[in-house]
Amino acid sequence: MEIQFLGTGAGQPSKSRNVSSLALKLLDEINEVWLFDCGEGTQNRILETSIRPRKVSKIFITHLHGDHIFGLPGFLSSRAFQANEEQTDLEIYGPVGIKSFVLTSLRVSGSRLPYQIHFHEFDEGSLGKIMETDKFTVYAEALDHTIFCVGYRIMQKDLEGTLDADKLKAAGVPFGPLFGQVKNGQDVTLEDGTQIIAADYISAPRPGKVITILGDTRKTNASVRLAVNADVLVHESTYGKGDEKIARKHGHSTNMQAAEVAREAGAKRLLLNHISARFLSKDVSQLRKDAATIFDKVHVVKDLEEVEI
Ligand SMILES: [Zn+2]
Repeated sequence: MEIQFLGTGAGQPSKSRNVSSLALKLLDEINEVWLFDCGEGTQNRILETSIRPRKVSKIFITHLHGDHIFGLPGFLSSRAFQANEEQTDLEIYGPVGIKSFVLTSLRVSGSRLPYQIHFHEFDEGSLGKIMETDKFTVYAEALDHTIFCVGYRIMQKDLEGTLDADKLKAAGVPFGPLFGQVKNGQDVTLEDGTQIIAADYISAPRPGKVITILGDTRKTNASVRLAVNADVLVHESTYGKGDEKIARKHGHSTNMQAAEVAREAGAKRLLLNHISARFLSKDVSQLRKDAATIFDKVHVVKDLEEVEI
């Protein structure tokens, strides 16, 4: 599982940072890619990656500001032009209004898609668990921005333990149906009367990963709740140390506040994105250094950077 950052800038594109979008690559787990936000130019960034648009099965939108959604009509239209590829449906999750934005853009521009989009809109009253499959659960909670904006907590379900085939063989269990029974957790008795206790041959379940991806926000307890024990927290850092007052005024956070959230939540890693174009590269390394005084597992991400989870 990896996160690839497609746009890490705040508000407007710059030469080095495009506007917000990231891809959660779940190819090994479920052969899908999930996009979080889709700022203008996201499809151009995708061209520079190995991501195939058809693999994008779900798009999660944090809020309706343009720098997070203006890439949707273009991406959705291009996704239709995948020659010789099967057209697969797509789910879009986001605040009430996202459906009207997408459908209006497509209608006005005369765009017809050869696949279906299923919209899942929510508002303040319908948050909580917004999606569940046999492998993942996704929760959303409202943050504190200038308009309704959410953060997402993606929880992978625990992974089943694996069978230690060598140990089972060494215990005298012949390959065949008995192996399958032990694998399914059934205790078995061999012909010579030996009892085989399945639990002795199956490793403990491995805990699934927790990934927290937040939209734009002031510092708020909701961010901490979403990020509790997360393997990775992706948090905006529109402002730097000392800018807390102006950050609050504009509905954003500083690097220091993001680090406080990561520390309070007990997250394992913090990735800072939504970086203002005002920050030059030396300022960006200062952003990291300052944040690290509060939470040391912090990194400021760049466009196209891929992070293994
Ligand atoms: Zn915003």
